[in-house]
Amino acid sequence: MADKADLTDLFDRLSRSAFRQRFRLLEPERGYLRRKGLDKVLEHAAEFIEQRLAPAEPANDGKQTPFRQHPVFIAQHATATCCRGCLEKWHSIQKGRPLTHNEKENIRGFQAKNHP
Ligand SMILES: [Zn+2]
Repeated sequence: MADKADLTDLFDRLSRSAFRQRFRLLEPERGYLRRKGLDKVLEHAAEFIEQRLAPAEPANDGKQTPFRQHPVFIAQHATATCCRGCLEKWHSIQKGRPLTHNEKENIRGFQAKNHP
C-alpha cells in the first residue's frame, strides 16, 4: 500500500464502493472527536490496530470492528481497514501472519488522512 499509483487506484476503488461511501462521521462520533482531540483518537487507532488487526489470527476476524460509536471504527470501514479480509482484498496485505511495524503505521496514517 505504499506507492502513489496504487494509492490513487485504491481511493478510486473506495470511492466507487457504495458500501464504503456510507461511512460518515455522525454527531456522536464528531462529538467524541471534538472532546478527545485528534491526537488521542489516533492513539486509540494504534491500540485498535495492535489488538484487533495486528495478530496473525485476530479474534473474531471480520466482525471485530463495530459500525458506530468511535470515529476510528467509522474510518476503518470507510478505508477498508476493518479486518484482515478487507486488508487483504483492498490493501494486498496477506492474512495469516502478524502485521509488520510499517504496515501498522501505514494503516494508521491512512485512517488519519482519509477519515470521512
Ligand atoms: Zn472488513
